[in-house]
Amino acid sequence: MARLIDKKCKLCRREGMKLFLKGQRCFADKCALSRRDYPPGVHAQKRIKVTDYGVHLREKQKLKRIYGVMERQFRIYFKSAERMKGNTGENLLSLLERRLDNVVLTSGFALSRNHARQMVNHGHFSVNGRQVDVSSFRVRAGDEVSVGGREKTKKMVSEAIEVNKSQTVPDWLDVKSDEMKTTVVGIPRREHVPHPVQEQLVIELCSK
Ligand code: SF4
Repeated sequence: MARLIDKKCKLCRREGMKLFLKGQRCFADKCALSRRDYPPGVHAQKRIKVTDYGVHLREKQKLKRIYGVMERQFRIYFKSAERMKGNTGENLLSLLERRLDNVVLTSGFALSRNHARQMVNHGHFSVNGRQVDVSSFRVRAGDEVSVGGREKTKKMVSEAIEVNKSQTVPDWLDVKSDEMKTTVVGIPRREHVPHPVQEQLVIELCSK
């Protein structure tokens, strides 16, 4: 399965904002963006006029990078969002939020998105009692996501819970940290998406 292998902090610097790709490091002084808040590359500090297309493209790249989704998969999300009722931009965000790796991260069971993804891919999580090892698995309202029975996994997840204990959990998830379980109690809406993205620009670009 394809995945983003670029250096994480470079992605943030390119987008000019924190994408929170490295867990707790993103909240510390070590965050690369707080020390070098300009794009990477030799000519990066030159003043370059950004075109209208460039503005739209950056917004799409930002969204893909936040959720760790490649172009092909992103197009599939867009097509699905278009087919759904309601606002396409909000549908797109909702579909991305409903990825299993995102649910694991948002519940505080992982230290970073990559960590969440790796744990899911290695079969450490179950949905409604059945092991799921696909990070893009789409959860539905009523699903119960739980941690597998292995002691090593539970230790890993409990460490992550301890690190993330001050994290706010959106109300579409009901997290029981002591049982290492999360119940999806609703479908995420726009106000549940914590990232400052202009989804309308993404939709305009993808609709061309
Ligand atoms: Fe981005 Fe800073 Fe986290 Fe690096 S440490 S991934 S620059 S938010």
